[in-house]
Amino acid sequence: MGEAERGEAAPRQAVTYFCSHDHRSVVTFSVEAVVPDTWDCPKCGLPASRDSENPPPAPKIEPYKTHLAYVKERRSDAEAADILTEAIELLRSRRKSGDIIF
Ligand SMILES: [Zn+2]
Repeated sequence: MGEAERGEAAPRQAVTYFCSHDHRSVVTFSVEAVVPDTWDCPKCGLPASRDSENPPPAPKIEPYKTHLAYVKERRSDAEAADILTEAIELLRSRRKSGDIIF
């Protein structure tokens, strides 16, 4: 965190979070802040909770989006069609030249 403080320091509270890797992270909040029930463990990124007996389970390892979803996001359909046509043509020419045999 390391926020620069000007003037009087606001009253703080230290909250300890526990992740399923047994990491213990102390996060400091302003006393006025609403303390969240879960916090991403700064050491491993897994969700951590305030209950040391019941840390949240590690989520299944999967990307938020597939690579294709990212590609689709970056390119319009027309561009994608162009790229596909190009790829097919390249494939066909390579097939003709005997580069690819399927
Ligand atoms: Zn952790």
